[in-house]
Amino acid sequence: MSYDKENIFAKIIRGEIPCDKIYEDDYALSFEDIRPQAPSHALIIPKGEYTDVNDFSANASNEEIVGFNRAIAIVADKLGISEQSGGNGYRLIANAGKDSHQEVPHLHFHLLAGRPLGPMVLAEKIKLK
Ligand code: AMP
Repeated sequence: MSYDKENIFAKIIRGEIPCDKIYEDDYALSFEDIRPQAPSHALIIPKGEYTDVNDFSANASNEEIVGFNRAIAIVADKLGISEQSGGNGYRLIANAGKDSHQEVPHLHFHLLAGRPLGPMVLAEKIKLK
């Protein structure tokens, strides 16, 4: 999939659309999800133009990969949800592609926390072959 420069997160990075910013550095931007699914629901996106984890892993520089991954833990600490910062932990999710229900075609990690999050995938939705 080629990168769509008009996707909503690209517009947020360019400052064309506002966001409720949590953290920003040279490699990453983090902001509140507009439709939170937990008491704490942050999104973390790389500054570069990557559609998903596979695109990022294949095409980002080592510096970008390290910088982005460091930012995830920084945000978790800043929000006070990591155990290292006194919180009860969090769930990190990255959707990629059709089956995952990825809606925005710019790589993003969901950081969910603030209540017991239950099983990773809803049991009734699982269809085992
Ligand atoms: P995904 O389904 O993994 O692609 O997740 C996309 C997420 O982006 C959803 O949780 C949306 O609520 C969130 N989202 C969409 N537009 C915005 C926006 N303008 N600001 C913050 N979050 C957004």
